[in-house]
Amino acid sequence: MEEKKRICVRCLLRDLAEEDQKDLKKYLAMIKPADRAEEGEYERRLSICRECSFLEEATCLACGCYAEFRAYGKRARCPKKKW
Ligand code: SF4
Repeated sequence: MEEKKRICVRCLLRDLAEEDQKDLKKYLAMIKPADRAEEGEYERRLSICRECSFLEEATCLACGCYAEFRAYGKRARCPKKKW
């Protein structure tokens, strides 16, 4: 039986092997450049997510989205008002 690969609780998808990030990259590419958060703002948001108790295995448990996808939108908001 093949064991499912687990990631650490506070990890983001970017912490996974390149191969395991394909879906994230595909989703992010669907967001138009004009609708994306500035790079610095995106990284600021993700640094807050990394410290957040709602982050579990790359998913925000407050909204059910991958944190990296949630944070990518220019007009996106944290469901817990942390960013
Ligand atoms: S989006 Fe907000 S609630 Fe969700 S993991 Fe990030 S900081 Fe936490």
